[in-house]
Amino acid sequence: MERIVQQTDYDALSCRISAISKGYLPSPSLQIERCQYDGYREIHMEYLRVLKGVSMKIYSKVYQVAKTSFPVMNYGTYLRTVAIDLALDEFLKRVGDGRKVQVVNLGCGSDLRMIPLLRNLSDLFYVDVDYERSISVKSKVLWESPMLREMLDLKREDSTGEVSSDRYKLVACDLNRLDQTMQSLQALTSPDYPTVIITECLLCYMRDRESQQLIDSVMGFYKSGSWISYDPIGGSAPDDRFGVIMQNNLKESRNLDMPTLMIYNSTERYASRFHDADTTAIDMWELFTSQISNEECARLRSLQFLDEIEELKVMQKHYLLLVARW
Ligand code: SAM
Repeated sequence: MERIVQQTDYDALSCRISAISKGYLPSPSLQIERCQYDGYREIHMEYLRVLKGVSMKIYSKVYQVAKTSFPVMNYGTYLRTVAIDLALDEFLKRVGDGRKVQVVNLGCGSDLRMIPLLRNLSDLFYVDVDYERSISVKSKVLWESPMLREMLDLKREDSTGEVSSDRYKLVACDLNRLDQTMQSLQALTSPDYPTVIITECLLCYMRDRESQQLIDSVMGFYKSGSWISYDPIGGSAPDDRFGVIMQNNLKESRNLDMPTLMIYNSTERYASRFHDADTTAIDMWELFTSQISNEECARLRSLQFLDEIEELKVMQKHYLLLVARW
C-alpha cells in the first residue's frame, strides 16, 4: 500500500508540469507578483530534466500523464497550487520580516515551492517530509542539478547521503508512525517559532485514527501556527455520488484507498478535525468564483478552450482548502 500511495506523487508532479507547460502556472499576478516566485517554470523544467537521469521510469510516467492532461485538470492544478501559495504568503506576511518562521510540508512529494520561498526569506526554515523512496528520489534530483543544488545551497549528509542545507531538511518518515514523525520534528524544529504545516493531498490517504493523531500531536507541539490543507471531500448531499464513485474508481484502477473521504465529506466536517483552532474551509469552486479576479480568469480562458465548465464545477466542489490557525 505504501508504494501505491507514494506513487500518487507522480500524478501531482505530472499535473504541475502540464499546468506549467500550458501557461496556467506560474500565475504572473498571484505567484510572481504577489508571492515573488521567480524562476518558477525554470525550476520545474530543470527538476524534470534531471529526473530523467535519476529515474527514466518515473520520468516517463510523469511525461506521459503531463502530455495528456485535460483543461479541467489544469484548472484544478492551477487552483490548488495558487490557493496554497496565497494562504502561505498571507501567513508569512502576517508574521513579518525579521522573525524566524518554519514551514513543514508533510507528504511533500516532488513539491518545489521551498526553492523560491527559501531564496526570498532569509529567516525561513523549511522541512519536507515524505516516505523514504520519495525523499531519496527528490534528494538525488536536487543534488544532481547544479542549478537547484546551488539555489538551495545544499550539502550532502555523510551518514544518510541525503541532501540538506542550514535552512532546508528532507526527512524520510512514515507519517502513520507518530513516534517517528514527532521525533524528527522535535529534533529539527522549534515549538517556539510560528510554523506553517502544509498537507496537500496527504490526509486523504491516511487512516482516520493516524491522521487525527498526527493533527493533534503536531498542533500540540507548535505553540502557534497555521495548518494549510488541500484535499478531496466526498460530498454530503444525499444524492451526491462523487465520493463513492471516486473511491470505487481508485480501488479498481489502482487498489488505492481514501479511508476518510466519506467521513470528512464536507468543508464543515473536514474542519472539525482541527480542534481548538480558528478554521476557515472553502471548497475550490467557491474559491475560484470568489477569489480569482476577472483578469486572471480571462488569462486562464486564453490558454485553452474549456468546454466542460459543469464538470469543472462538480470536481472543484469536491476539493477544499482549509486553513486552521492556533
Ligand atoms: N504534496 C505533494 C503535492 O501535492 O504535490 C504530493 C502529493 S501526493 C498526492 C501524496 C504524497 O503524500 C506522496 O508523496 C506520498 O508519498 C505522501 N504520503 C502519503 N502517505 C504518507 C505517509 N504515511 N508518510 C509519508 N508520506 C506519505
